[in-house]
Amino acid sequence: MYKIVIANRCECLKKSDIKNHQKFDTKDEASNKALELVKFMNTQCTCKKEYEVQEIFNNFMIKFYEEEKAPCCGNGCGSSCTAL
Ligand SMILES: [Zn+2]
Repeated sequence: MYKIVIANRCECLKKSDIKNHQKFDTKDEASNKALELVKFMNTQCTCKKEYEVQEIFNNFMIKFYEEEKAPCCGNGCGSSCTAL
């Protein structure tokens, strides 16, 4: 059993009717569906969050990347900033 877990969604996607915790019998099905969902969510999201899929054991977790508020050079690169 493989599951798609939507870990967090932004304000604009809270209004959508995307179902959470969808279950699949095969890994292929789950991963295809997860990718499809992410693509859909990225087009529906108007606040420009970047959703991505992360594979964790038998689950595919969908979440958006949250910017860290670390001080950096001002280019928004956060903790990966090379100027730190
Ligand atoms: Zn959004």
